[in-house]
Amino acid sequence: MAAAGTRGTTPLDRYRDRLRGTERCGACGTAEAAGEWTTRYRDGRLVYRRVCPRCGGIERREFRL
Ligand SMILES: [Zn+2]
Repeated sequence: MAAAGTRGTTPLDRYRDRLRGTERCGACGTAEAAGEWTTRYRDGRLVYRRVCPRCGGIERREFRL
């Protein structure tokens, strides 16, 4: 397991860390091949999006501000 580089101090940082650390791909179920989450702000919400490098499945999470 890779250690987290910087530890977030805000809830958003922590939320992203949690996504990175625990989310599995919904399609193939792998956790080790987790891709990089990209963040986009839209309509008062943060939208996290990730593409699984193994199966190409797209994961999406929305975070309400
Ligand atoms: Zn996958």
